[in-house]
Amino acid sequence: MADIIQLLPDHVANQIAAGEVVQRPASVVKELLENAIDAGATTITLVIKDAGKTLVQVTDNGCGMSPVDARLSFERHATSKIRSAEDLFNLHTKGFRGEALASIAAIAHVELKTRTENEDIGTKLSIEGSEVTEQVSEVVPIGTTISVKNLFYNIPARRNFLKSNPVETRHIIDEFHRVALAHPKVSFSMLHNGSDVFNLPQSNLRQRIVNIFGSKTNEKLVPVEEETEIVKVDGFVLKPQFARKSRGEQFFFVNDRFIKSPYLHHAVNSAFEGLIKDGMQPGYFLFLEVDPKSIDINIHPTKTEIKFDDEHSIYAMLRATVKHSLGQFSIAPVLDFNK
Ligand code: ADP
Ligand code: MG
Repeated sequence: MADIIQLLPDHVANQIAAGEVVQRPASVVKELLENAIDAGATTITLVIKDAGKTLVQVTDNGCGMSPVDARLSFERHATSKIRSAEDLFNLHTKGFRGEALASIAAIAHVELKTRTENEDIGTKLSIEGSEVTEQVSEVVPIGTTISVKNLFYNIPARRNFLKSNPVETRHIIDEFHRVALAHPKVSFSMLHNGSDVFNLPQSNLRQRIVNIFGSKTNEKLVPVEEETEIVKVDGFVLKPQFARKSRGEQFFFVNDRFIKSPYLHHAVNSAFEGLIKDGMQPGYFLFLEVDPKSIDINIHPTKTEIKFDDEHSIYAMLRATVKHSLGQFSIAPVLDFNK
């Protein structure tokens, strides 16, 4: 029988990869914001239209890209962030897969404007369905603006699968919160259909939380701080009386990356035992710092899951620390008279 195996063309491979990285407009928001952070930006602006379905645009004042890098950034597995397999186990950047821009460009109309401080004139590049349609020199500020238009224009099934504008906007705001909380020293703004949604000046974590969730949050915060040989924890939990029926503000960050961890959630929950009623959810903004060599974040394309070398110690430490912090605020247990 004749040989039948063929290598897929790049644009097909990119579209398949896009399926994993880009589920919805919020996925684009996450990738672009993280690239802006990795570029060392101190000011980041997110502009969306129609819940990101027509436009997601991120502008940063970071390092920018040379004309050659601008072109390369859309190739799959093209990254400036890692060089070798060893680097995978010692990550200091949000990105490292070199897949986001290639994936996004496979399923949207993308325009990139960028300039490094070494250049007088910048680059404008347009790309559609993985094809570069234009690359020209253009006078642009130092930094990068990436505009992603008409997401899933070439995959109608996916486009139709998107939820209502309020639901998609909610997802975008969630991603925006996660990045903005992890980087209080960076100023962020967000506009939707031309109106301001957030204007977050450069600040510290407490102020950032208050700027996002409202001034009433300030008095609800209990500071958490502890350091051991394997992990440093800081951040805040909400006082037990502000626990809610539904999951509200629950944020874990590991090395400034938002992560989902039912295991760590359980640790915090158990620290609140006896202080909140069964079924109520505590609020928390907790930052864990560990040696990048002691974690593996290469588990899922969206990088929201993480594997710790020493999960059990982190659990125990987190539980004890949160308990201790709550104790210091000497809060009487909530008595459940139904029991
Ligand atoms: P990754 O972030 O995993 O490296 P991406 O596809 O997100 O992969 O980006 C590819 C490359 O493009 C990055 O490694 C970086 O060099 C460059 N890049 C992307 N966005 C920006 C930006 N906002 N500013 C400067 N360089 C960027
Ligand atoms: Mg990236």
